[in-house]
Amino acid sequence: MTDVIATNQTILVVGGGISGMTAALEAAECGKNVVLIEKNPTLGGRTALLYRYFPKLCHPTCGLEINLRRIKSNSRLRVLTLAEVTAIAGSRGDYTATVKLTPRYVNENCTACGACADAVTTLVDNPGNYNLNQMKAAYLPHAMAYPQRYVLDPSIIGTPEADLAKAACKYNAIELDMQEETIQLKAGAVIWATGWKPYDAAKIQPYGYDRFANVVTSVEFERLSDPHGPTAGKILRPSDGKEARNVAFIQCAGSRDENHLRHCSRICCMASLKQTSYVRESFGAGGKSTIYYIDIRAIDRFEDFYAKVLADPGVKFVKSKVAKIEEDQKTGDVMLHGVDTEGYHRYENRHDLAVLAIGMEPSVNAAEIPGEIIADSSGFIESSAVNSGLFGAGCATNALDVNRAVQSATAAALRAIQVVNKVARAEA
Ligand SMILES: Cc1cc2nc3c(=O)[nH]c(=O)nc-3n(C[C@H](O)[C@H](O)[C@H](O)COP(=O)(O)OP(=O)(O)OC[C@H]3O[C@@H](n4cnc5c(N)ncnc54)[C@H](O)[C@@H]3O)c2cc1C
Repeated sequence: MTDVIATNQTILVVGGGISGMTAALEAAECGKNVVLIEKNPTLGGRTALLYRYFPKLCHPTCGLEINLRRIKSNSRLRVLTLAEVTAIAGSRGDYTATVKLTPRYVNENCTACGACADAVTTLVDNPGNYNLNQMKAAYLPHAMAYPQRYVLDPSIIGTPEADLAKAACKYNAIELDMQEETIQLKAGAVIWATGWKPYDAAKIQPYGYDRFANVVTSVEFERLSDPHGPTAGKILRPSDGKEARNVAFIQCAGSRDENHLRHCSRICCMASLKQTSYVRESFGAGGKSTIYYIDIRAIDRFEDFYAKVLADPGVKFVKSKVAKIEEDQKTGDVMLHGVDTEGYHRYENRHDLAVLAIGMEPSVNAAEIPGEIIADSSGFIESSAVNSGLFGAGCATNALDVNRAVQSATAAALRAIQVVNKVARAEA
């Protein structure tokens, strides 16, 4: 049984992405007791799956590393991974959350030496690479994972593979009899930071994501460009492993569309502009990108980044909503069809690879969150009822870049602190 002590002066943060980590840290560094709950085996959320950040093109590991250092040195902050909030009851100042804990089968003795992974042969899909490749069934989610502790995939529990992993561990870290648990945690305020998920590209039928191997999503492209990704950072076509030197980026794939997501996902233009630099980085002068767009939304400080990409002779802009994609079955190339609205030319353009800048939707529809949350028409958290102690943060509230997600999380932490301060005053 886990030993977390939580009272109605505790702040509970649900979701351990950059927003949840920020909210938890801000509150804990103000002296509040915080429990941070993450359903995956590691903190970091989707930010940890990006290759580089716009606009500076630095690696997400820098930002994560700083936050992880702050987390490790703060005794007021307790982190539970493989933990999912399944229900919340109560009201401002007095909530009870029901949390499901999924077994990791590896305890705190783990030194992340990797002997268990060496011992097993079973492969499972790798969600850290959006299932573009497979990984050993004993795995560390990624190099920056926190906690730095391996995980055994449940599919090998009860098989000889699990026994091999246990036998290989010198530190007595593998516990094959760990069980699922459900615990209840008290909290005075709850911050809901469950983030976003990519829109299901297969629903955009004319783009053939589920039919053509060389149509990928923007989140997959992040992994294809990353040296820790499935192709060791070489931008290769899924169909034949050929270098993808001529890449089409298709904007608003599923966003700003009555048939899919009505909202603008805000970051996709910047993400595609950034991804043209991955093509450049891989192939130098031989790398060509074409961005098919309705309009480019790069505001404030992002405009300079846009101007830099506009000046790159290897990047072409076509103002057009792509009508459909076809595949040249002989070569595997993708053929984009549409009308260029700056001259009204019909085009049929050939590319090695098409990248769909897919929209962001909330990972949990706010209408389904237990409690006093008010959802907007896209399922993001719009606000909380008056006198609520339940607050949204980051991409649970809107499609945001990391900077804005962090601002939103800091604001949520402040609101939560005000609630537990009142509880403390009432109890004094
Ligand atoms: C293609 C692409 C490229 C991008 N590139 C950039 C970039 O270069 N720069 C930039 O600033 N932004 C970029 N972004 C945006 C960036 O990914 C988001 O701003 C960031 O992920 C927001 O973090 P978050 O913590 O709000 O959400 P998330 O990263 O989604 O984290 C939410 C966390 O909550 C957890 N969770 C969900 N439900 C539960 C539950 N019930 N219980 C417990 N835990 C739960 C999830 O497992 C996850 O760890 C990009 C987005 C896309 C689509």
